[in-house]
Amino acid sequence: MAVQMPALPYAQDALEGFLSASTLSFHYGKHLKNYVDTTNKLIAGTADESKSLTDIIKTAKGPLFNNAAQVFNHQFYFESISPKSTSVPPEVLAIIEHSFGSLDEFLSKFKAAAAGNFGSGWTWLVKKGGTLSIVSTSNAGCPITDGFTPLLTVDVWEHAYYLDYQNRRADYLAKFCEHIDWAKVAERLV
Ligand code: MN
Repeated sequence: MAVQMPALPYAQDALEGFLSASTLSFHYGKHLKNYVDTTNKLIAGTADESKSLTDIIKTAKGPLFNNAAQVFNHQFYFESISPKSTSVPPEVLAIIEHSFGSLDEFLSKFKAAAAGNFGSGWTWLVKKGGTLSIVSTSNAGCPITDGFTPLLTVDVWEHAYYLDYQNRRADYLAKFCEHIDWAKVAERLV
């Protein structure tokens, strides 16, 4: 079965002030679409055609891994964002405090890790066992290949923020943290 183009969970202009409609039109409409289309070209007529996207990611190498993981990573990223500020559910707050001491400490470490993620990649909040940690991946890297359950991710490829922030990645990260969909994080925790 072909990999589907994920739906964007809000209008392309819903994040104005954080990300412009222009950024989303390129990032969602062009970059993600290209990863979906290329993945489908690469699996057409192969055994991978019948696998789930996550099963492809866990076994593929090279261009197929890169494109399939980028489909997963982008869907996960767009679904991590809320147009409106959301509150942190108690069960999420409890495990963040257990793992990082406080919400502020987590946000500060998350932003520092994402700011320091050299070049193109992703910075993630992940769970393994009863503890959360922050991991950064390069290029299309995806933590499900290391047995982590991802809870949150931020895209630090320049295409994610350059139209709106140019080289100011830290400003993009500060705004991202104000737009985390914490209800989605809670959903992914279970
Ligand atoms: Mn991207």
